[in-house]
Amino acid sequence: MGRILLLAFEEVLGRPGLIAVQRLAGLDHWINTLPPNNLDEGIPFQDIGAMHTSLERMYGPRAGHGLALRTGRASFNYGLREFGPSLGASDLAFRLLPLPMKIKTGMQSLADVFNHNSDQVVQLREESDHYLWQIERCPICWERTSNEVCCHFEVGMLQEALFWISGGKNYQVQEIDCIAAGDPACVIRIEQNPLD
Ligand SMILES: [Zn+2]
Repeated sequence: MGRILLLAFEEVLGRPGLIAVQRLAGLDHWINTLPPNNLDEGIPFQDIGAMHTSLERMYGPRAGHGLALRTGRASFNYGLREFGPSLGASDLAFRLLPLPMKIKTGMQSLADVFNHNSDQVVQLREESDHYLWQIERCPICWERTSNEVCCHFEVGMLQEALFWISGGKNYQVQEIDCIAAGDPACVIRIEQNPLD
């Protein structure tokens, strides 16, 4: 998963941008290095948090926010190559499900992928008209403090996941609580009905 994160950063920032972010974060040992393509834990959460802090310092909060969102989106597509079969979304049974069930099943499978293959702890909660994607151990804001929610990467990753699971629909996805801002968990609200 750490490898996927670095590939996504490189796609969005370009290699020089990624190297600059890594330098600023004091992560010179990751420059031009990718963790091996296996399920071992590749990159410590503190390094991931530090990269996101550097991203905002380098590009400013506003542009940094947009870049983190895009990196999250890109990461889902890299992740799909590795974990696609675990999501089960190409199975015939899945394809025949009505859209709301597809979203529910697909998001639960995605949460399982994180819970089984990383130190990230995710719970999916269903409310009346939305889902809550609750991250109890969040790499994106690990050891960070912020006045506002700051896990834009997660929001982008979920937007792209929903787009893919739904076969091309856009969903409203918004972070409402963030550990970096003092909340007990990072919580992302996902509307159950698509925007389009
Ligand atoms: Zn977070």
